[in-house]
Amino acid sequence: MQIIVQKFGGTSVATEEVRQLVVKKVQQALKEGFTPVVVVSAMGRKGAPYATDTLLSLLKETNERTEKKEIDSLLCCGEIISAAVMAATLQGAGVAATMLTGGQAGIITDNHFTNARIIKIDSSKILHLLQAGRVPVVCGFQGVTVDGDFTTLGRGGSDTTGAALGAALNAEAVEIYTDVDGIMTADPRIVEDARILDCISYSEVCQMAHQGAKVIHPRAVEIAMQKNIPLIVKSTFSDAPGTLITSPATSDSEASLVTDRIATGVTYLEKIVQIALQVESTASHQTASQVFHAMANNNISVDLINVHPGQIMFTVNAEVASLAEEKLVKLGFPVTLLPDCAKVSVVGGGMREVPGVMASFVDALTCSHVEILQTVDSHTSISALIHQADVKTALLALHGRFGLAD
Ligand code: ADP
Ligand code: MG
Repeated sequence: MQIIVQKFGGTSVATEEVRQLVVKKVQQALKEGFTPVVVVSAMGRKGAPYATDTLLSLLKETNERTEKKEIDSLLCCGEIISAAVMAATLQGAGVAATMLTGGQAGIITDNHFTNARIIKIDSSKILHLLQAGRVPVVCGFQGVTVDGDFTTLGRGGSDTTGAALGAALNAEAVEIYTDVDGIMTADPRIVEDARILDCISYSEVCQMAHQGAKVIHPRAVEIAMQKNIPLIVKSTFSDAPGTLITSPATSDSEASLVTDRIATGVTYLEKIVQIALQVESTASHQTASQVFHAMANNNISVDLINVHPGQIMFTVNAEVASLAEEKLVKLGFPVTLLPDCAKVSVVGGGMREVPGVMASFVDALTCSHVEILQTVDSHTSISALIHQADVKTALLALHGRFGLAD
């Protein structure tokens, strides 16, 4: 059996018309001799009746502080509706299909409601269906705890379901079907001349995803990488070949389709708040320890950390900024918040030890009059904190400067 996992995102299952395109992709896989396992997200985006955000707003209107277990039970309904409708659509086209909830598909998670992690997959039920010649249509984004409670895997979690099933079933490949022709050098909604990447390494795409490219969930990439299962990001709406995510060659003699470039893509993360604290020059390090423990104890993730004599700076997501401020004020620190910030990054696995990358990065932004509030770099990325209003200008400048538009 040559199993192939085909994951379809929300826009790919939104209407009867596009669900027929999904049927075509499944039939194509069958025709090529593969054994498909389908994974679906909830139907449509915000505003659509059964989309995840619509269901979420139903609870927000009822009670802002609904507990996470109930949030997860409601959110799971989105994928259950979608999988039942998709299985019915396949059956209507003469394809024997059976829908499975995450739990029925054997996906067991921990009990971190709204952001659960898969702890094991019992694929016996899926294998049973495959042996019977049926196409399983599995609800993405969900699992169950060992006690049988519904859980969800966090935003973008259907990608994780696809990759985890691919790993558990030792699939030939996991195909992530979406509304763009593949992974691009930038988000095409902002950078109009972004190009499709034919091939990209697991680590580069993981970096891009962590730095904001929402086209694929980083956890899905990590899972596929562990088992070296090829991931292909492609469109439901076209026959374009898509982007292959795989490993780069580990030696000169080994052939691989990917080599790491100095710059592979530009990404952005929005809704960031910069927090600055003035402290006594001699006390910066003790204070930093107090500050970051306070953040950790309140489950607040911090980024772009700079500790200098006299000043500590870091960033948090906008939704936790007031909680962070409250905790710091309670500790007696005078804090200054700078809201409406964003982080723009250039990602490239081949940028390490190449001189002049930071210079080009800074030049591109300053020549476009984008104020740099902070910078940070790693082996495979350079990022700057900027004002939210400058995101488009910054991305266009970086995309052009690093030769990604050619
Ligand atoms: P799905 O519902 O199919 O999972 P998503 O909205 O999660 O779809 O992901 C697809 C979207 O990701 C695209 O419509 C595009 O706007 C956005 N995107 C952001 N960065 C990139 C990128 N570098 N390449 C391609 N798409 C990107
Ligand atoms: Mg997605």
